[in-house]
Amino acid sequence: MLEVYKLTLGQLNTNCYILYSKVSKHCVIIDPADEASLIYEKIYLLNLKPKLIVATHGHFDHIQAAAELKLFYKIPFYLHKKDLFLLRHFRKSAIRFTQIDPGPAPEVDAYLDKKIAFGEIELSVIETPGHTPGSVSFYSKRAGIIFAGDLLFYGGGVGRYDFSYCDKNKLFRSIRKVLKLPKETLIYPGHGEETNVEFEQVCHKHGLLRDITEG
Ligand SMILES: [Zn+2]
Ligand SMILES: [Zn+2]
Repeated sequence: MLEVYKLTLGQLNTNCYILYSKVSKHCVIIDPADEASLIYEKIYLLNLKPKLIVATHGHFDHIQAAAELKLFYKIPFYLHKKDLFLLRHFRKSAIRFTQIDPGPAPEVDAYLDKKIAFGEIELSVIETPGHTPGSVSFYSKRAGIIFAGDLLFYGGGVGRYDFSYCDKNKLFRSIRKVLKLPKETLIYPGHGEETNVEFEQVCHKHGLLRDITEG
């Protein structure tokens, strides 16, 4: 019995998701975007026990509350190894985009591997690179949900691929991979509203999915 609570945080309106088990009350914090106090408050009100902080990728707007939450809950923070380089630009990027100094980058305690599991919560870590080299999606087949970060957005939107380290081909390939999941799979993106595989398949029918063999 997994539940999802969404908070939209920070100047870039980034979605932070609290994924929790109704039974054990264990929770994982996905993309601790900003405003740690609001995340803390919700976790407190829901009476949850945080176990882990993870990020779909290393962009500053998805991890600005990670350091504070780590300190507060004494729980680890996981990121994909290939996005570690982004942490070197964390502080500078945040200041450039928001004019606010977020403090030092959060420390990464472990690299994301194939799975995250604790209590009855189990998530597959699917590599979905392109927006950044180390972008991942967190998928629960059982619950029929996927947290896709900045891979794709409601109504046929795709993640940015105009930074020097982006890879448009990889991004499109990653989107196709996710759109092959069961139709009813709910997609929770890094910005904006939820969507699902079936709807996005329709949105991409004349574009990305036109030639599925292309890669
Ligand atoms: Zn991003
Ligand atoms: Zn983002």
